[in-house]
Amino acid sequence: MSVMGPAKCPISGAASSTGSCPASRSASRMGPRGCAFSGFSQSSAQALYGAPQGPDAPQILQARETKTLVHLLLPTAPPKEKTAALTLKTVDSLTPSPDSVLAAALGSPARRVLQRAETVGPTTGWRDGYLSSTHGFCPPDPSASPIALAMSPGRVWSDLCNRMPGLVGRGKIREAILQLPMVSGGPETIPDSALWAATVCLGILASVYRYEERNDGTEGIVVGSGNVDRNMFLNAAGDAEDEELETKGIPRNIAIPLRAVCTRMGRPLPHLTQYDVSIYNFKLRDQTSVYPYPQRAENMDLRWPVFNDRAEAMFLLCMAEVHGAFTSGVELVVRCQEAIMEKDNEALLEHLVALKMIVDQLGPIFHKISVNPSSGELFANPVEWGQRYAKFSAPLSNRVPALSGLALPLFQLLDAFMGRQKYDTFLGLEALHLRAWLPLNHRAFITAVEKFYPMPEYVKSTNDSRLHGVLEGLVESYMGERGFMGTHRYKVYGFLEVVAKTGRTETNGGAGSADSEGRPWEEVHKTLSDSMIERLEPYRKNITLKPHEMRGCFEECRFRGKVTAREWIDTDEDRNTAKVSIGINDSGVTFGPGDRLTIMPLNSLSEAGKVADALGLVERLDEALRLGNGSASDWKRFRTHLSGIEGRDVQITVRDVLRRGKLQPMTKEMVMKVHILLRGSSSTLLKLLSSEEWPVVASLGDILGVAKKEVDEVVWEAAFGNQDLDWLSKLIPVEVPRTYSISSFEKGLLPDVIELTVSRAEHRLSPLLTGGKEVIRAGISSGFLNPRPSFEQAEYGADEDVLIGISRPLNFALPISPAAPVVMFAGGSGIAPFRSFWRARISGGAIGRNILFLGIQSRKKFSYEDELRDAVAYDGLELHTAFSRDRKALIYDPSTRTLVEADREPRYLDTTILEQGSMVTDLVMSTKQGGLGGYLYICGSVSVYETVIAGITRAIYKHRTGSKSAADDIIATAFAERRFMLDIFMTPQAMSFKQPVISVSQLARHTGHRDGSKTWIGVHGSVYDITDFLPIHPGGSLIVQASAGLDASKTFDDLAHTSNPEVMSLLSKYFIGHLAPKPAFSAPELGSLYDGWYDYLRTCVESITTLSFEVKSICKDTHIWFSGGLLNMGGVRKFYQFQSRLIQNGFSTLFGSKLQELFVKLTFTLVDTRGRSEGVLPDVMGRISRAGSSVAAGKAKKEIAAVGELVCASTTAQTFEKGLMGYARGICEADVRFLEGVREEICHGMDAFELIQSMKSSTLEKQRLFKLAGFLMSILERIAVRLEGFYNEIGEMSMYHPEMESNPARARWAVVRRRVRDGSFFVLARDVELDGQHSESLDFDQQLEMLSQPYEIQQRHQRATKRQSISFESIMAQATRDFQPREQRIEDFPSPPKRLAEAHAARANINNTQQSSYDQLQDSKAANRISQFMQSNLKAIRRLSRITTDQINSFTPQHAIAAPIYGAPSGSIKQIQYSSPAFRQRAESSPSKPPTQPLPPLPTHEKSQSISHQPGLWPGVQHKKKASLPKIPTYHTSPVAASQASSATSTASPSPLRYDSLSRNPSSASSDSSQGGERRVPRGGGRDRSLARMTMTSQASDTVSEMRFTNHINMLPQERYAAGPSRESSVDRGRMGRVRQEDGEGGLSRKGSLRGLDRAMEALRGAR
Ligand SMILES: Cc1cc2nc3c(=O)[nH]c(=O)nc-3n(C[C@H](O)[C@H](O)[C@H](O)COP(=O)(O)OP(=O)(O)OC[C@H]3O[C@@H](n4cnc5c(N)ncnc54)[C@H](O)[C@@H]3O)c2cc1C
Repeated sequence: MSVMGPAKCPISGAASSTGSCPASRSASRMGPRGCAFSGFSQSSAQALYGAPQGPDAPQILQARETKTLVHLLLPTAPPKEKTAALTLKTVDSLTPSPDSVLAAALGSPARRVLQRAETVGPTTGWRDGYLSSTHGFCPPDPSASPIALAMSPGRVWSDLCNRMPGLVGRGKIREAILQLPMVSGGPETIPDSALWAATVCLGILASVYRYEERNDGTEGIVVGSGNVDRNMFLNAAGDAEDEELETKGIPRNIAIPLRAVCTRMGRPLPHLTQYDVSIYNFKLRDQTSVYPYPQRAENMDLRWPVFNDRAEAMFLLCMAEVHGAFTSGVELVVRCQEAIMEKDNEALLEHLVALKMIVDQLGPIFHKISVNPSSGELFANPVEWGQRYAKFSAPLSNRVPALSGLALPLFQLLDAFMGRQKYDTFLGLEALHLRAWLPLNHRAFITAVEKFYPMPEYVKSTNDSRLHGVLEGLVESYMGERGFMGTHRYKVYGFLEVVAKTGRTETNGGAGSADSEGRPWEEVHKTLSDSMIERLEPYRKNITLKPHEMRGCFEECRFRGKVTAREWIDTDEDRNTAKVSIGINDSGVTFGPGDRLTIMPLNSLSEAGKVADALGLVERLDEALRLGNGSASDWKRFRTHLSGIEGRDVQITVRDVLRRGKLQPMTKEMVMKVHILLRGSSSTLLKLLSSEEWPVVASLGDILGVAKKEVDEVVWEAAFGNQDLDWLSKLIPVEVPRTYSISSFEKGLLPDVIELTVSRAEHRLSPLLTGGKEVIRAGISSGFLNPRPSFEQAEYGADEDVLIGISRPLNFALPISPAAPVVMFAGGSGIAPFRSFWRARISGGAIGRNILFLGIQSRKKFSYEDELRDAVAYDGLELHTAFSRDRKALIYDPSTRTLVEADREPRYLDTTILEQGSMVTDLVMSTKQGGLGGYLYICGSVSVYETVIAGITRAIYKHRTGSKSAADDIIATAFAERRFMLDIFMTPQAMSFKQPVISVSQLARHTGHRDGSKTWIGVHGSVYDITDFLPIHPGGSLIVQASAGLDASKTFDDLAHTSNPEVMSLLSKYFIGHLAPKPAFSAPELGSLYDGWYDYLRTCVESITTLSFEVKSICKDTHIWFSGGLLNMGGVRKFYQFQSRLIQNGFSTLFGSKLQELFVKLTFTLVDTRGRSEGVLPDVMGRISRAGSSVAAGKAKKEIAAVGELVCASTTAQTFEKGLMGYARGICEADVRFLEGVREEICHGMDAFELIQSMKSSTLEKQRLFKLAGFLMSILERIAVRLEGFYNEIGEMSMYHPEMESNPARARWAVVRRRVRDGSFFVLARDVELDGQHSESLDFDQQLEMLSQPYEIQQRHQRATKRQSISFESIMAQATRDFQPREQRIEDFPSPPKRLAEAHAARANINNTQQSSYDQLQDSKAANRISQFMQSNLKAIRRLSRITTDQINSFTPQHAIAAPIYGAPSGSIKQIQYSSPAFRQRAESSPSKPPTQPLPPLPTHEKSQSISHQPGLWPGVQHKKKASLPKIPTYHTSPVAASQASSATSTASPSPLRYDSLSRNPSSASSDSSQGGERRVPRGGGRDRSLARMTMTSQASDTVSEMRFTNHINMLPQERYAAGPSRESSVDRGRMGRVRQEDGEGGLSRKGSLRGLDRAMEALRGAR
């Protein structure tokens, strides 16, 4: 509709008769950015969705407005029925009400708001908020305000923002801010047109100042006085005490103008908003790239990034993009309101469909944020985001709005438009709060849409099924599980899992929710799903399930359709594949290319009939069922669902259950139900139950038919003869829907038909039921949609109604650009979605190539031949075929555009792909790699996928790369760039139980964190090796790796993967075995120990995987270490925070309460099983505490503190550039190696459980328990030794290696200067003399190394490691103290913040080095468990220990009850006082190395028999006297220890214990002055949620220095694991009755049965 004038914008096509730029709104020829014409006029987006275009839009709208009121309100004469009954009293009702007249006279409220905004906005710098018909919520020109700012004195702010990433990288941003001149924010300096930009700049500067203050190198470990430079920034610009919270502490030169500009913007308190940093903070890369809209993430950069990393950019740009996509949405919403005012249903329909098209895009836009490291610019690293941007984005105070997506105007508008009624959930309340802070235009617009002519109400009142359907589609598209909300939720889940595990303490959405489980990402998932339900409620009443639980269920099928045709598409006489048409006339269903249909299939009449016949239900088919509780609740939900769709109250009848229930194949659960009902009297069922593969190919009708002949009539009657049919709905569950790719493409507004390409699945009926005869059965759904032609009429009723739904896969859509080449690989019916692709591309005039590779068995099965030939002839398609069982080939001839018949060897698709290898390679390679950047799609079964990938890999290898792995990388890049997409047709395969059994420890060892190692995961009892799957996982590899080595069932369920057939079928390709279940221990103590140990292993594995995320980014990401060729403080800061966190918290989840829990329980078990408490136990906890406060640990901390000092001293840092990075790499490697060692130890313990369980049953329970506990205890001790070794190792490392640096002299000088400054230079000089070292003979570094070591460290290598032991009484007394409640303990754990802003602010205050909230909760739960354990074993502890009555009495049941409340254990958290010299000496000894010798083996079964219950014995003490005991294996922590071990003779009695509690930070406990007076800086109000940790000083003497084990146990035989436990049928074969003689298909061909079946089928044919 654009007017063709003399001047026309070459980009947008918009024209202006005046010759002025259509986007500038002034009389200037120049566009807002100086171009002659603008590409911003959005013509393509407007055209796409039917909103008025460019400069003509106002005229068009005005034309609409000129309608007369009569035209609007009284267009037709009232019908007679309406007038007839009216009297004088009532006749006035014929005329419109005053309200309506006024409303019509004024126009639609939304239009009024829009027009006002458009009129006033351009003259006031849009300070009321950007809002226009042509640009929606986006600024008409994103550069206009920044240009205005740059032309004002405020330019100083934007100039500084332009330098920001570089300055942040140097650690110099605060200095730069302080140097800014004071520029006022008043109108005399900052014009209105520059206000937005000024607000954004100043808001960012204030926030970054705060961020820097909190992350300046003092947030982690600080030793001594620290860097004097740190304080130079504090209050440098005046303390601003007079200021309010938002600008407190922020330099006045930005605080004052910030307040001024915010006030002018109508913000009562100064703050930065989410839309400031996203929608109003981008610049376009290519302004001519306007299709379908310019603001695409790939076409934008942040104007003022803070860190300049892609995680920051992707989040913000995607938010900008959703608003860019929505530019015409604002106009469409207004038009909907106008259509409702005018009661114009056709117009409303048109606008709603257009709006749905836009909303459909929101999910895929959000999905662009990729967690896949090889996805180039789309990669948003969660670790980076969590530790940097998430911290930066904290609000200026906790009373101003948080930076949250809820504040974005688009979502507020959609909520209002879709009639959201409830805002009661946490996020609901937050949304309302944030709405109150929106710019006034936005608030007015949203209110106009919400309060006037509400769309959902109107649609409901119309009875127009098309409108209902489109609204339903819109609901799903915005708030549904597969729509925007669902996509957002899943993205957040995966992202936050990584973020939360890598040390972030809080989460955005999780704030305010009860974080009871301690897994914040799961909490966020719940919070988001609550708010989804709240939104859905007006549409779906009584929602009882979480949204993800509805995936893969009938709930997804919300429309009705009819099978209207089944057609041949090839020459196969069996019609194995058919085109099936589903009529959807007037349903309002819309779909696009790549969309899928979900359908609830109906059982064939014969299958339903068999069941009816066997159960005697033929006469009762129309009887309504009383749906009770239990499994019938599915049917109840189904009834509600059906009633909702049909708009009336519907009953579930017997017929419904038989036609819509799951009758085939038989799961073990279903067979078991029948078996139990028949009291085990059917021998065939017994045989079936021992099957090795489940489910069994058979139907319920089959097994009932056979069983009926075997079972006594009385039993049968008792099972099924009941008048009450309650059992029926419990026996037969509701069928699950099937998915089909849509094969049709419709250009019109609403399609009438959906076409599918369905290939019939066929299975061989279980031979147990056929007496060995081969009987083939069709799959339920494919058999229903495409039955064998001869069955069609007989088996299914005509025109049967089916429930259907539409879903849009996130990863299977045509490229936006019509010029992009598309390559489709199809196997068999995999051609289904591609038919819609080529049709859409050809009819849309796409200029890019369309290439189809099609693999089928034979010429006979070549489908859609005519259509394909036409498409080829039209030059719309290049077709390459592969027939696997036919020599009659079809070859594509590009010159004649025909398919030529030829004789050729049969082949698979990979051969054809290889033949076209060069072309395929170019298409797979990205444009950056010099390729064509084609969009590739694979569709078909899993084996088709494998063949295609094999072909492509070979092609790339042949044509481009030197290795297969390089070829794999090219493919992985295509996947990561979202150019490679899959549509895998699956039918879940039967699971064989013959596969190997994989132990939990084997699984745990495969975390894949090392390059080239394997990644395994466990899901619902199966183990998968997903190493090869990682690069192609659509959600990115990090997310999957977060579950590596673990049982990921819960995550799978949460993400609805388990109910996603596509995921499960793809996964089946990677299946490697069954996960060993928990052994069935007869002693509950064993079971409980197992659970504790398993949990500990899980924690360790999680620690390894998530630690490796950070380690990888520290060690491999050059971006974090360098920016602009200079050392980036981002890297230094990150490493400092990361390592501080580890050391300060001492790997808290592994060495905190969880370990103590195991230790206490094992101690108790050992003593309890012996019945006495004499002897000593290893002082595991004491050893761990001492390791954390050892000299080595102190030295390591000092070094890390020195790294912190460099955070704000970039010049010095650059002097040590190489040393610093080398140090980071070395220490990170040590971290990982250490955790690997710990995991290995725990895995040994895990294996011991299985071994113990397999011991001869004659072994006494107590004996087993004792042996196991002893073994596990030895492992705990080894773990403690490893910790000591770890500290020793990292204590040796240093970043000062001047010889490595590019300028060694300067580096040396920097060291000396530092030493001189902190005074250590002189101290060290004295030490040199004392030691009599010849310093001249050593080089400078050696001197430093030597000198910097305290005397004790030099000595410690000469001392032996001594076994540190402790008595039972001491351990229990300590545990009693540690886990007794403290008064007012709840106050220690502030309740979770109530508001989002509070949460964000709290998060930013907590420094990065504190324990994550996840870790804290893990700890507190463990503390809770210990407390309960102590309580429940109180009597035994009393009996066994010699704890004084006073001590033991102090532990009461109340303690146990009180302890769980946020779990902080024990009395006051005191500073430990290691005062005695004896203690110090011990603490500083132990130069432990990780244990290297193999673990002491568990006993062989035989030997174990001979071990008597030794009274009062603990390893290493009494058994020395027992000559009869087997030889005790030992391991030594050092050679000296070994020598001393031989001299160890007796156990010294423990020295009196000091029951000092230790704070969470073991190092903080030490007041050892030799460590430079280490201090923890209580910055940012960090909550001390510390758990008191047990610390014990043990006896002073030389107790045994070797580890001894009472139980001589041989190593675990390896074969066990390979073979796995034999899985015998649980069915007692001996009880099997005689199988009766059967004939045919399980005896069903008997005449009598057939007659009954005919009758049943006949009855079923009857109408509902
Ligand atoms: C994304 C996708 C697209 C597909 N597109 C097509 C297509 O265009 N054309 C085509 O012919 N086939 C397609 N399929 C396969 C189709 O969904 C069915 O799996 C197939 O028709 C066999 O179903 P059936 O009922 O006949 O098999 P049955 O043998 O009756 O089913 C076997 C077992 O698998 C389970 N099962 C089968 N399918 C599903 C499912 N979708 N969800 C959950 N459980 C299931 C059944 O409950 C049963 O336990 C597609 C599958 C997927 C996942």
